[in-house]
Amino acid sequence: MTTISANLQAVLARISEAARNCGRSPDEIRLLAVSKTWPVSCVLEAVRAGQKAFGENYVQEGVNKVREAAMPNLEWHFIGPLQSNKTRSVAETFQWVHSVDRIKIAERLSQQRPDCLPPLQVCLQVNISKENTKSGMSVEEVAALARQVAHLPRLTLRGLMTIPAPSSGFEQQLLPFRRLRELFEQLNREGLALDTLSMGMSNDIEAAIAEGATLVRVGTAIFGERN
Ligand SMILES: *Cc1c(COP(=O)(O)O)cnc(C)c1O
Repeated sequence: MTTISANLQAVLARISEAARNCGRSPDEIRLLAVSKTWPVSCVLEAVRAGQKAFGENYVQEGVNKVREAAMPNLEWHFIGPLQSNKTRSVAETFQWVHSVDRIKIAERLSQQRPDCLPPLQVCLQVNISKENTKSGMSVEEVAALARQVAHLPRLTLRGLMTIPAPSSGFEQQLLPFRRLRELFEQLNREGLALDTLSMGMSNDIEAAIAEGATLVRVGTAIFGERN
């Protein structure tokens, strides 16, 4: 077994155990393999080990990798900061975007999504820990943007994403994920049909799953430390 394949199995085992520990089915939680900075050979190794969904942070790197991998059944998620001059490549290349944080970006993605492709699946990125340095909108802004995005014709609003400030200790890690889940539940009570809570990375998937994550984004624990 290669390292990537062994790491993938270990991450899937962590997901299953975390789900069982809180009475959830592991089938409710999808694993996104974050392949940013890693060459396409690593992606293909993960594909051979059964992984299908990959996350990329940088537009040009992601677009190149999608093209090089040239595999029809993979699912590519854009999860990095997105500037308006780069939306077209993203709209033409990826199936999902997790990092929508303003209406201008959402409108451009919708306008630029090619008609021959299904609608782009999007999550709104929420800055739950209120760090000025992290992208994402404030909790107060989410409901209004969600309603606007839900009306854009070429986007399907799927849910919310967050990258909390790093913290250690399970109890501490739960707090931002709990706030995102509460926000998600509130939006659904208000009539939005969201099904995706994109939260949890290598160091905190257990806490994210305990608070309802439906998709965890894992890089380091699969591919190794990035330079
Ligand atoms: C890099 C990155 C990840 C993966 O982080 P790891 O700690 O390597 O698992 C997840 N989500 C986003 C948005 C990232 O940029």
